[in-house]
Amino acid sequence: MSSTNRVVTPESLLRQEVLDLQAYPVPESAGMVKLDAMENPYLLPQSLREEIARLVADAAINRYPDADAQQLKACIRAVIGLPQNVDILLGNGSDEIIQLLALAVAKPGATLLSVEPSFMMYKMIATFTGLQYVGVPLTENFSLDLPAILAAMQHHRPALVFLSHPNNPTGNLFDAEAIAQIIDAAPGLVVVDEAYYAFANASLIPMLTRHPNLLVMRTFSKLGMAGLRLGFLVGSKAWIAQLEKLRLPYNVNILTQLVAEKLLQHHDLLLRQAEQIKQDRTWLYERLAVIADVQPYVSDANFILFRVIHADKIFKELKKRGVLIKNSSSSHPLLLDCLRVTVGTPQENEQFIRALQESIHQVV
Ligand code: PMP
Repeated sequence: MSSTNRVVTPESLLRQEVLDLQAYPVPESAGMVKLDAMENPYLLPQSLREEIARLVADAAINRYPDADAQQLKACIRAVIGLPQNVDILLGNGSDEIIQLLALAVAKPGATLLSVEPSFMMYKMIATFTGLQYVGVPLTENFSLDLPAILAAMQHHRPALVFLSHPNNPTGNLFDAEAIAQIIDAAPGLVVVDEAYYAFANASLIPMLTRHPNLLVMRTFSKLGMAGLRLGFLVGSKAWIAQLEKLRLPYNVNILTQLVAEKLLQHHDLLLRQAEQIKQDRTWLYERLAVIADVQPYVSDANFILFRVIHADKIFKELKKRGVLIKNSSSSHPLLLDCLRVTVGTPQENEQFIRALQESIHQVV
């Protein structure tokens, strides 16, 4: 065989770090009570769905969308109440923004630092964009280990620090003073990922004007728009202008632009749903707390992490009973025997609690 027609294999061509990766796991969920992915469980009122249907019917899908999504950005600005001197960058989900940030700083040897356990995409994206990744463990109670983070920043000089606030998968907010110290000491950018902002009473957006190396990222996925794929990053005009160069043209499609604008005009409705989810989080926490051998962790997000005995077995038993949650047990030593459940509708939450009690009875 001549060298020109030799079969090229993935192993011979791809970077080793790509070959070593596992694709982001998305389990089969058809027909299950789906409490694994922090989605909003509520549908929209019929009248609003009909309005959306008309918008979609009239959309000029033969044309490219507005490349700058100006109307959508204006809606976001109005709803979030952003300071004037701050700009917005939109992403096809906030995952895309993490990737864009990583690509922007990916000089040889550049480092992305985060805490562990946290959102797995920080590490995965760092790996496939060629960044060094440093994960500083949280303390036993999932708070920031400030001295360790400051020391790691001093040593590794990260170009990017990612903090999920509230943190996925632990659900807690971090100490605001510790975050401020990290921002002050960071040699590069600090991105505070507020994916779960709608379920917490804390945001770093007011700090943007005082801290030029701070960027705040949010997504609308948890607020009822996971299927639309829309995330955004806010920060100083100087940073956003540079990052815009890496945003692929038309990354936010016309249907997403139109529907998200419409939904943001009904932001109060989405916030009421979030409020309901917060109330049901309390219900769920209290039910979990009284089950023997279950230790739930207090959450400021739309999910609850809890520890059980034999997490793997209980996860499987729940699945057998048609309930899909997330098994975090093997993802980090601090999460040994931990499961994560998204807050669903009251009925789904009851189904989950019943299935959990049965599963524990079966296993323990
Ligand atoms: N950040 C955090 C902390 C998350 O948990 C998630 C989704 N699970 C994302 C970002 C990504 O969200 P999306 O791409 O849907 O905007």
